[in-house]
Amino acid sequence: IKAAAMDTRVTPMMAQYVEIKAANPDCLLFYRMGDFYELFFDDAEIASRALGIVLTKRGKHQGHDIPMCGVPIDRADDYLQRLIGLGHRVAVCEQMEDPAEAKKRGAKSVVRRDVVRLVTPGTITEERLLDPGRPNFFLAVARRRVSETEWRYGLAAVDISTGHFALSETDGPGLPAEIARFEPREILLPDSIQDDAELAAFWRETRASITPLSRDGLDPASAERRLKDYFGVATLDSFGSFDRAAISAAGSALFYIEKTQIGSRPVLNPPTRGQSGSALAIDAATRANLELTRTLSGERAGSLLAAIDCTVTPGGARLLAERLAGPLTGADAIRDRHDAVSFLVENNVLREGVRRILKRSPDLARALSRLGLGRGGPRDLACVRDGLFAARDLGALLAQTELPREFADAAEVLGALPTAIADRLAAALADELPLLRRDGGFVRPSYDPNLDELRELQQDSRRFIAALQSRYATETGCRTLRVKHNHMIGYYVEVPQNVGEDLLKEPWKATFVHRQTMAGAMRFSTVELGELESKIASASDRALRIELGLFDTMAGELVGLSAEIASGAEAMAVVDVTAGLAELAVQLDWVRPIIDDGLAFDIKGGRHPVVEAALKRDGQSFIANDSNLSGIDGGHILLITGPNMGGKSTYLRQNALIVVLAQMGAFVPAKQAHIGIVDRLFSRVGAADDLARGRSTFMVEMVETAAILNQATARSLVILDEIGRGTATFDGLSIAWAAIEHLHEANRCRALFATHFHELTALADRLERIENATLKVTEWNNEVVFLHEVVPGAADRSYGLQVARLAGLPPAVVERARTILTELERTDRESPKQALLDDLPLFAVPVRPPSTAVERDALREALGDIDPDQMTPREALEALYRLKSEA
Ligand code: ADP
Repeated sequence: IKAAAMDTRVTPMMAQYVEIKAANPDCLLFYRMGDFYELFFDDAEIASRALGIVLTKRGKHQGHDIPMCGVPIDRADDYLQRLIGLGHRVAVCEQMEDPAEAKKRGAKSVVRRDVVRLVTPGTITEERLLDPGRPNFFLAVARRRVSETEWRYGLAAVDISTGHFALSETDGPGLPAEIARFEPREILLPDSIQDDAELAAFWRETRASITPLSRDGLDPASAERRLKDYFGVATLDSFGSFDRAAISAAGSALFYIEKTQIGSRPVLNPPTRGQSGSALAIDAATRANLELTRTLSGERAGSLLAAIDCTVTPGGARLLAERLAGPLTGADAIRDRHDAVSFLVENNVLREGVRRILKRSPDLARALSRLGLGRGGPRDLACVRDGLFAARDLGALLAQTELPREFADAAEVLGALPTAIADRLAAALADELPLLRRDGGFVRPSYDPNLDELRELQQDSRRFIAALQSRYATETGCRTLRVKHNHMIGYYVEVPQNVGEDLLKEPWKATFVHRQTMAGAMRFSTVELGELESKIASASDRALRIELGLFDTMAGELVGLSAEIASGAEAMAVVDVTAGLAELAVQLDWVRPIIDDGLAFDIKGGRHPVVEAALKRDGQSFIANDSNLSGIDGGHILLITGPNMGGKSTYLRQNALIVVLAQMGAFVPAKQAHIGIVDRLFSRVGAADDLARGRSTFMVEMVETAAILNQATARSLVILDEIGRGTATFDGLSIAWAAIEHLHEANRCRALFATHFHELTALADRLERIENATLKVTEWNNEVVFLHEVVPGAADRSYGLQVARLAGLPPAVVERARTILTELERTDRESPKQALLDDLPLFAVPVRPPSTAVERDALREALGDIDPDQMTPREALEALYRLKSEA
């Protein structure tokens, strides 16, 4: 690249491009040229393919064509969004001076350009690039060694689109669950952590994009300094006490902000301690299996989050997603949330009032963050204005009543919000607002006298032009004379060709200066028009400058109040989440769960919220089921057998979801629920084949099962679906058997275990805390009917053949299977002897009617008689016709 920069065949602009590109090798470079961002070389090829835009050429570089493509700046957001979505990073390079300035330095001189920002998945702030209902975290991870084999990890999670900044700590085994809780879009990793063999699979499987963190970001001493500088504090004590690893991670996060935001400084809340340790640990596999925030195929629709989201503000939607991702484990904190929901469930009028106000509240937090970064526009000011008004009204509404603790806190924050600024904004902002500051026209008339005067001047000038036009028309006697404007020559007089010829002569020549001749028309300028022109231009320039000044003042004032405004936004989000959950509970008839520190797990009439909603759409109803795993010195294990399609998976998952909902502070889909706090939730349910990643289903299953048996405590809830399925029957059965014994004796956790191994039901007689349950099925007209009802006991039969038939297996195969089954059942089921199988008549299904087979053989014979080499084309054709007629 250096060589290229020195090469004399390289134009100065290309040399500049190459230099800037070399400084940002891992980004696509958006290189500003006039009204476009241009991409060159490989970047152009990548982007044109990714965006479906035309790849062209621009000049030559060292004798070769330079591939190029460009995106217009006013559509740049759309293109950025797509590139970021595909996992690219983009460096935005702007012109740092007016091209006219560069020209002044010399004809060959290039416009100064600089990268002003790196756009990466975890650092975007634009409304259009963000999902309003989700936080947009990037995570920085750091660690320190605590012993030969153990590490302490620190995590810093930052959402610069809202200013959210959380730190947390964890040990090695807890790291994946802790990362999964934030659902980060991007993870900054030092090489040493990325290369750690134990974590390799996790990094490979995460949805986040991984950004390697350079050494400079990691220095622990500078981490502390960075934090102190950023928040302007002398010591970090006021934030709480954090592990060194967490401080390092925080330093890395700030380093990355500096690196990507280049000079702009997002407003961040002082770091709060994330709830690690006080959060229900749910590993990534369990989150995915339970489809908490997205389905297995990655969509929001169909997830638990989508099913429970009744929030009406983007901030509320984000907080709901966060709470769902990190349910609590402190009984008091959970009960506080339930108190608040319950309060609004009972108080319909207040709930509706609250929601009505919230509906008017736009995305306050993100607008504020854009203003803080200098990327805000007039509409962001309006956003904050409307948000603050909504906050004021909400505060007033809540102030009237005796409130549960969560609300009392929120109401207090809302009551103390500085809303005078909102009144000022309301006075200053026009009704219709442009998207961009530089478009002007966003300050309300009669807000600023100087601005009014300039605007009047512009108005007057326009009137003056109209007057001038009629004067010129009268003087020249040309009724079609018009004064017009374009960017090339400014204001001009346009007349038809024949009149124009006259104006070129005395006496007009002195007044009208010829500028352009068009087909049938001529254009002239005059001194008067020229003067007006500059008056208007300077008036609009000055007006814009005044508007921009006002904008900066207002934005500056808001940014100065950002801590208060951000906590107001947070308080509104809390109220929104609570009111949304209350609305949900009322609409779907959910109940408040009883939460305590025991080992109860007693659900009456539990339902699966997502399956229920889907059934309801089809006009069907969901069968509610009880579950009781309550224990005193250890949880109970429910062993569920029953036919496929009976509802085992649904039942397993619904119990896990009820725990998640209860501990995030929501009501639950049940008639009654009593839950002793769960510390970790594990699930191992129907693994999709993972061959793409080089692991067999069975291997995945065993890895996940191992994690459960190693980590589950007496407070955990474990959901196991069909373990041991991916291997030979006896292997599978023995593994499942041993796993249950381990859960019962060692983990002593509450567990639901679905299996197709009927042999396991014998365990219920031998182990005291194991019970059998099955899903009820009846037969009607020789067809199986699933009742989806969970009842005590073991399944008497598996109904596999009926299900197979329902699924459309050929009748011949079903019949054959029935024969084999009868034989097997007649002898010892556990050990089918080879001899027995040998005794079974062979699989002999008449595949086609016999006549067909005979005909086919006749054809074969006829074909055998034909020797193509000995035939003329005509004979061959005749033979073909003959064969066809015989068939
Ligand atoms: P299994 O795991 O036993 O094969 P699933 O849990 O996958 O069965 O359930 C199969 C289908 O049965 C589900 O897709 C759902 O439509 C229906 N189903 C399951 N449980 C219930 C229920 N409690 N009430 C109504 N329908 C149910």
